[in-house]
Amino acid sequence: MIDFREAREWMVVRQIAGRGVRDSNVLSAMRRVPREEFVPAQLREYAYDDSALPIASQQAISQPVIVAQMMEAAELGPRDRVLDIGTGSGYAAAIAAAIVAHVHSVERDPLLADTARETLARLGISNVTVHLGDGTVGLFAYAPYDAIIAGAGGPRVPRAWHSQLSLGGRIVMPVGREHHHQRLIKLVRHGEHDYHEHWLGEVSFVPLIGEDGWADY
Ligand code: SAH
Repeated sequence: MIDFREAREWMVVRQIAGRGVRDSNVLSAMRRVPREEFVPAQLREYAYDDSALPIASQQAISQPVIVAQMMEAAELGPRDRVLDIGTGSGYAAAIAAAIVAHVHSVERDPLLADTARETLARLGISNVTVHLGDGTVGLFAYAPYDAIIAGAGGPRVPRAWHSQLSLGGRIVMPVGREHHHQRLIKLVRHGEHDYHEHWLGEVSFVPLIGEDGWADY
């Protein structure tokens, strides 16, 4: 029987803090959210491995350190309202929700959206709303957002996300010309039409599919 609590602590120490993540909100969120609940039952024993893992519908739960680095880059605070694109397992949404006021998370795959809703409800995480739809158009109804975080990679930052970001808000997203190879970028909105882009590293995410992303294939 694996001691998941101990495995999680090791993950935080070695994979997350050990690789330079310093944000105490992020470290404590990674300590609290049980990743084993977000992976398929037969993969639970690998929940704290230093890797992405497959979930349903040929998608993947991201590598823990990547989630932590994205959350740190998003500079999340307790009053923030966050838009999370690509709910997948719901893990990244749960990590953000452990820090911020509310997370709106958009997933295009109905099976994944339902499973994530169930997982979040079972864990008593009530400040995440999972929406079924195409996240490349954002989620106008609850905009603006202090941070927009994408768990899937697209050819560019979708147009709608720019306008749905609050002043001072941050977008963290994998962008690239290939389906599975991207640059992780951070975009900060300094003014009405003033955005600054920062490069965070090379990553490999599943494709962002939709109106302002990749075509379905
Ligand atoms: N953050 C997730 C990562 C899931 S993988 C986690 O922690 O598990 C990325 C997800 O993005 C997949 O579930 C995929 O179905 C979804 N996705 C891809 N394009 C999308 C789009 N346009 N809108 C919403 N979800 C999308």
